[in-house]
Amino acid sequence: MKIRIGLETHVQLNTESKMFCGCRNPATLPEEPEPNTLVCETCLGMPGSKPRTNREAFRKGLKTAIALNCSVQRESLFSRKTYFYPDMAKNFQITQYEKPLAVSGFVEIESGGRRKRVRIRRIQIEEDPARTVHVGGVGGSHVLVDYNRSGIPLIEIVTEPDLSSPAEARSYLSKLMSILEYLGVYDSSSKAVMKSDANISLEGGRRVEVKNITGAKDIEEALNYEILRQKSSISRGREIEQSTRMWNPELGVTQELRSKESEEDYGYILEPDLTPLRPGQLLLSGLKSEIPELPDSKRERFIREYSLSPAMAESLVSELDIAELFEHAAKRISPRVAGSWIAGYLKKSLNWNNLTFRESGLKREWITSLLSMFERGEITDRNAEIAIRKMIEERKPPEDIIKRHGLGRERIDLSSVVGKVLKKNQKALTDYLSGEEKAIHFLVGQVMKETKGKADAGEVRKAIEEAIRRRKNESP
Ligand SMILES: [Zn+2]
Repeated sequence: MKIRIGLETHVQLNTESKMFCGCRNPATLPEEPEPNTLVCETCLGMPGSKPRTNREAFRKGLKTAIALNCSVQRESLFSRKTYFYPDMAKNFQITQYEKPLAVSGFVEIESGGRRKRVRIRRIQIEEDPARTVHVGGVGGSHVLVDYNRSGIPLIEIVTEPDLSSPAEARSYLSKLMSILEYLGVYDSSSKAVMKSDANISLEGGRRVEVKNITGAKDIEEALNYEILRQKSSISRGREIEQSTRMWNPELGVTQELRSKESEEDYGYILEPDLTPLRPGQLLLSGLKSEIPELPDSKRERFIREYSLSPAMAESLVSELDIAELFEHAAKRISPRVAGSWIAGYLKKSLNWNNLTFRESGLKREWITSLLSMFERGEITDRNAEIAIRKMIEERKPPEDIIKRHGLGRERIDLSSVVGKVLKKNQKALTDYLSGEEKAIHFLVGQVMKETKGKADAGEVRKAIEEAIRRRKNESP
């Protein structure tokens, strides 16, 4: 059955101030402010107040448009989307409808081992509504409204219905998030959120919209659920009606909100209080030159320059800090060693702790220094893994961690330990000499015990064999 999915993603931009007033943008504050403290007459929608466009949000919107291969419109206009709800005090939301900021771009994703282009239909700038809190849950005693969120700058990125599975939707959203982080317009480690609405239709059925999905993992879950629901409806002979549903992440289900209203119901009119946005060539070429190397180009370069496998390169570029850490390490040690540790055990440990590299407090120098110790054979791979775990827990450099937890490979005088062990275990030695191969494992074990696991098992075995050979030669 053919599935068509399109996504509309709302991204809170990491600007200092709000979209149409000078109030502080709470999404970029380290602490959650008291409700209704970051407000003014404009974001409270008081009569007579006048909006002004945030230049930084405009620049960030344009940067995004350029990075997503869109054509930036010579003129874009703001419109009023009329609706009545307590989260929008002036009874309309300022958005872009008739003339958006940019159109017709694309993002490349990985799908089933192939590259696929997902077309971007449009990008528009708008303001976030306020936050409503249902006390005692939906249908509870009352609703509280926090206008701090009202007016946070958003960009909405709308795709064509090019995605053909929940997994593709997930891969698109992860890619989009990493591009936005590379651009510095969105910061996933801040309070800023990225929320998507998904439009999904199964062959022959009507389009259903699922709202309020945060994050790439959730989009896959929500869509999987919704497809199953629609398929089972169809199999029971029911038709799929056009409707709007809400994703409930706690229950893992989509729930009916309302039968779908059409865009005309919002009664869009042009916003008379704001001037059109007309980005000049100078501004656009300036912004173009500010765009950094993006994930796709970085991935290609990593494959070319460091001879990495495509999968490893892909994993390293998904987070900018990880990509930069890799390059830091690859200049000092073998790129393969750096790549496999960073894309492997380090990323796994960060995920396990639910941390990005930046949030972990680890320093590039620490990781590089640990990996060069590993490369020089000063720490075993097992102990290097323990060191990474402890570095994340204790936020200390590897030298301290290794010392404190005794993880280093000490200069052990193996031959004297081996001599002692052989003397104590004459029986095992005779067994081994009379052809019982297995006896050597026992001897290796004894040496490991004697050295408290700090020696390398392979080296110990070699040392034992060497000692036995020497004895044979010496004996008359
Ligand atoms: Zn304000």
